Amino acid sequence: MKNAGHRQIPSVEKVLQHFSGSALPRRALTALIRTELARIRRRKSIPDQESITSHIAVAIGDLLSQKLQPVINGTGVIVHTNLGRAPLGAKVLGAVTELASNYANLEFDLRSGDRGTRAGYLEQNLALLCGAEAATLVNNCAAALVLILRHFTSQKPEVIISRGELIQIGGGFRIPDILEASGARLREVGTTNKTSVNDYRRAFGPETGLILRVHRSNFSMSGFVGSPSRDELAAFSRSKKIIFVEDLGSGAILPMQKLAGFDHEPTPAEAMRQGVDLVCFSGDKLFGGAQAGIIAGRRQFVGALKREPLFRALRCDKLVLTALQSTVDFYLSNETNELPVMAMLHTSAATLQERAEVIRRALRGSRIAVEIAQSKAQAGGGSLPGSDIPSFALDFSPVSPNRFARRLRNGSPPVIGTIKGRKFRVDLRSVFPAQDRALADAIRRVCQ
Ligand SMILES: *Cc1c(COP(=O)(O)O)cnc(C)c1O
Repeated sequence: MKNAGHRQIPSVEKVLQHFSGSALPRRALTALIRTELARIRRRKSIPDQESITSHIAVAIGDLLSQKLQPVINGTGVIVHTNLGRAPLGAKVLGAVTELASNYANLEFDLRSGDRGTRAGYLEQNLALLCGAEAATLVNNCAAALVLILRHFTSQKPEVIISRGELIQIGGGFRIPDILEASGARLREVGTTNKTSVNDYRRAFGPETGLILRVHRSNFSMSGFVGSPSRDELAAFSRSKKIIFVEDLGSGAILPMQKLAGFDHEPTPAEAMRQGVDLVCFSGDKLFGGAQAGIIAGRRQFVGALKREPLFRALRCDKLVLTALQSTVDFYLSNETNELPVMAMLHTSAATLQERAEVIRRALRGSRIAVEIAQSKAQAGGGSLPGSDIPSFALDFSPVSPNRFARRLRNGSPPVIGTIKGRKFRVDLRSVFPAQDRALADAIRRVCQ
């Protein structure tokens, strides 16, 4: 039986015409309209044409909001996993653009004219930067861990790890799960707050293949805490002829404690000096490059990992390799200001305050109260958990902070901030100076 209201349902053609200016590609738009009209047809009561049109407009908006697009990060968290972690600088991107739009010597030896190795230049420079004999890279740090565990526990499946390091990073990454996924067996030692070398010694057995140390990258512990030093663990693992691996997580290269508000963050070079056999860390956290899992350490171990069949399944593509090649070059030539993460970390609070003043002046006459406030930014991305970086923010006092936040999120470009009580805060440390004007414009639009 046809519902009488069905006559109200417009044709796909007619709705298409109405939304012809939409940013959705035509076929995607047509498919969406068909789906939505079919859904409406199944309803008991059919809405009027106007509600049908506005319903479809919402569906189009929902889909477009999921399209990857730039946003303004006003959270003050520099490496924000939900907001794409490390942004790339113009010069790094220039290198990527040039390589990607041409053929390249990806696996071609320009000297001999034969098949060549992938990323030879990058691997050598990465090793130098990490103070290691050798280095290589895979898709992300989780993949690096799986590869390492898989390879070094194939004979002896047990991995000793401190209970204080069985951590979770962001959504869905837990060290115990990664261990399991790689086929390794977890042997927990010590307690949440205290682990000693003796705990490792007692746990050691014929099945032990590896000692894993994990940097507590997204939280810090204080009070009655203690864990063995790298030197101690390195000496122990050497005496037992097993490999000692450290997951550093964020991959700080520069001495972070020299910056205001920062704790010390272990660098790969430091871990190497203290006897770690292999380290792994993310390429797109504090390191400030593209998504990758960087592995550095003893030549024989890195070489063995590269011969693993799994390595082929986890390798990086040429765009990532180029971005990292360029990033590493900037580290080695002390031009880290070309890396946005480093530039944002190093910006002085006074500079941020001046920018805040300029933005506030630009907002004069708009119908919203703006205050400039001292704030605390974070490195983020599971790095430097104890660090509060002195920063400056714009605090807005809208009638409804939630509605204000929602409207800013749904603007173009979207602006993401934080709600603090009755205020909506935009921290300028994670905003590019070149975005200040767009930020002011976005706020002005929302206030109209
Ligand atoms: C972030 C993090 C990881 C995961 O890194 P991905 O590159 O996202 O796979 C692993 N270990 C630690 C300690 C981390 O902080």
